[in-house]
Amino acid sequence: MNEHLLSHRSRKDHAAALAAATAEVGRYLDGRTTPRSSASPAHLASQTAAVDLSTPLGTLDKALVEVRALYLDHAVGYHHPRYLSHLNCPVTIPALAAETLATSVNTAVETWDQGTSACLIEQRLVDWVADLIEFDRPDRVTPDGVFTTGGSQSNLQGLFTAREDRLSRPGPWGTTPADRCARLSRLRIVTGEHAHLSVVKAARLLGLAPDAVIVLPGDGDRMDPATLDRALASVADAGDEVAAVVALAGTTDHGAIDPLREIGLVCRRHDVWLHVDAAYGGGLLVSPTRRDLLDGIGLADSVTVDFHKTFFLPVAASALLLRDGSGFRHSTVSADYLNPADGDDHAVDKSLQTTRRFDALKLWMTLRVLGADGIGRMLDDAIDVARRIGRTIDSEPDLELVRRPALSTVLFRPRPEGCDPDESDALVRPVRDALFAEGRSVVAATVVDGRPCLKLTILDPELSDRDVAAVLADVREAARYLAEGMRQATTAGVMS
Ligand SMILES: *Cc1c(COP(=O)(O)O)cnc(C)c1O
Repeated sequence: MNEHLLSHRSRKDHAAALAAATAEVGRYLDGRTTPRSSASPAHLASQTAAVDLSTPLGTLDKALVEVRALYLDHAVGYHHPRYLSHLNCPVTIPALAAETLATSVNTAVETWDQGTSACLIEQRLVDWVADLIEFDRPDRVTPDGVFTTGGSQSNLQGLFTAREDRLSRPGPWGTTPADRCARLSRLRIVTGEHAHLSVVKAARLLGLAPDAVIVLPGDGDRMDPATLDRALASVADAGDEVAAVVALAGTTDHGAIDPLREIGLVCRRHDVWLHVDAAYGGGLLVSPTRRDLLDGIGLADSVTVDFHKTFFLPVAASALLLRDGSGFRHSTVSADYLNPADGDDHAVDKSLQTTRRFDALKLWMTLRVLGADGIGRMLDDAIDVARRIGRTIDSEPDLELVRRPALSTVLFRPRPEGCDPDESDALVRPVRDALFAEGRSVVAATVVDGRPCLKLTILDPELSDRDVAAVLADVREAARYLAEGMRQATTAGVMS
């Protein structure tokens, strides 16, 4: 018997392995007193390089001890109350139990004969999310969706579907293959200043021209519908075509939500595909109190939702939803060995992937335990925390609030006494880097209106005022120390 391969014969080994791994996670949770270790990347690189991959350790216990030193002791703890950096969420325990089921059984959501019940569960959830979106559609049109690995893949497939939809309709010069090439080079994607980088990547992968993505100047952080209206008219005037408008329900960096209803109406008037990237803001679909922030999302033709952000699921879990599910035909290729045209609906017909993880089970288990309200309330609480931090920062003389939190992102700058705006800007990166190197608090840095600022992304509904105060104290202390250093350097420069 091979005790390393899972079967009914190796059940004891399986249980022992999971228990040992769970114990390591427990050690990690207890031992992670700071969001990251202070080990330098160079130190970690040499440790990793030193492992001799040609000499196996032979037992799981030994491998766990090794991986503890290489990984767990240094892993950045997204769950930690002083990790307030990127869009990484703490995860639900039911989802982790689901992961164990799905990966142990190793179901591939692919074809009807490989994962019947998994296909059914995923489809129920896809229909559930589509219902939450409340797509504005005629009766004959049925929405549909598919799970993906993340917002980037959802955006890619959404924009791919938009491209095919556009090219399948008569264009300025007809629909013959030669025209298709000519039209491809003149297809545009119109979006706002804060679109996710995956939109530009998608445009490249879709064979669009290097200048295909038109970035509209915003009205503050949001897309301005009047500007969009004019842009769509001028694209048409130039003889070009718009594959899609990409609106954001929560920009990655600021959490800003575009005016979706007005944008949707502009797109309808111009007969243009609207893709709403709700990778960040998608959790508002289940918010008991803030669903109205997504007002108008139902006017979209396609929507990206990331469950591994504001639905508190472990990576990876995302979905692309189409208002008209028949659009998935553009992703379908038949093969005799996989999905013969036998009338069955195969999951692979809708996906860019073939073998695909049963990530839907994480959402299913979380939903069945917590309910939609339970998930939404966690996001609501995180947004409340962000707003509270915003008010605190606004009231502190040595901190400057850069934006009122739109979702759960707080943008601010340290401004120690006596610092002018230029000095305050110059402090942002060094403060972030110093905190990161030390490992005590992890915050992000970005640029708003051309000026650097610090960013806190709040996805922990339980973050206490004390935790926040500790992070802000770390920021202040680093800023004061670094400002003092800058001043001494300047004085030394003047005297030499
Ligand atoms: C995070 C994010 C993405 C990318 O999602 P991944 O899951 O990281 O691939 C796309 N769009 C927005 C607005 C995001 O915040």
